[in-house]
Amino acid sequence: MTEHYQHRARKRFGQNFLHDAGVIHRILRAIHALPGEHVLEIGPGQGALTEGLLSSGARLDVIELDKDLIPLLNLKYGSNPQFSLNQGDALKFDFSRLGAEPHSLRVVGNLPYNISTPLIFHLLDNAGLIRDMHFMLQKEVVERLAAEPGGGDWGRLSIMVQYHCRVEHLFNVGPGAFSPPPKVDSAIVRLVPHTVLPHPAKDHRLLEQVVREAFNQRRKTLRNTLKTLLSAAQIEAAGVDGSKRPEQLDLASFVRLADQLAN
Ligand code: SAM
Repeated sequence: MTEHYQHRARKRFGQNFLHDAGVIHRILRAIHALPGEHVLEIGPGQGALTEGLLSSGARLDVIELDKDLIPLLNLKYGSNPQFSLNQGDALKFDFSRLGAEPHSLRVVGNLPYNISTPLIFHLLDNAGLIRDMHFMLQKEVVERLAAEPGGGDWGRLSIMVQYHCRVEHLFNVGPGAFSPPPKVDSAIVRLVPHTVLPHPAKDHRLLEQVVREAFNQRRKTLRNTLKTLLSAAQIEAAGVDGSKRPEQLDLASFVRLADQLAN
């Protein structure tokens, strides 16, 4: 059907369409959707992943922002009773509308790179509905998501996402797999929300505040960067060495600092 339909990829929607069949299969294998499951695809585009997701027998909701792609998606998949098309902005989408059971929704997307971080945070606000997420992202972003303390990639994104999720960097994808090719390398990441948080904070907004403040000046010591929030005594009471720099601290230490702020 696509041969009768020419869609010009739009930069402002972050459109880089997957065309490498080998990469598409590898992504679908990693997701491994099954009949009876409920999958949400963000940004189906021209359907590169949609096709295989639907043929798995799973129920599939998609959210696509570009109005011009809606007729094509309807034409290709609209007659399938397992398929629901939502036109709109995934950043503003109310995921509770999907009627998903707790910890059931499987979220998938070759995401527009400009919205990937805010979208992940929007999804994490609904983490209780989600079983797992598989995303194609800029490789650097995946490296930050999957980072460990001690290195330059460890920062606000790693900590806030790892607070909610187990993160797996699955594999890298070169620009040639897309049309048009992006200027950067990409990678597939799997995020699995914890059913029980390993390091629950008393108030996760305070954790966000401490982490943001600490990494505002990542070269400085914690004693220095956190002085408007926590006294040296409070930092010590959290069992944290104030002479360390933020990138040396693990998630559990940040949670203890946030809990000092809550006291
Ligand atoms: N999944 C397709 C593929 O792999 O070929 C398309 C991927 S393309 C990188 C990103 C898709 O997300 C485009 O179809 C774009 O129109 C759509 N998109 C961009 N911003 C969006 C938003 N805020 N909400 C939903 N979809 C969006």
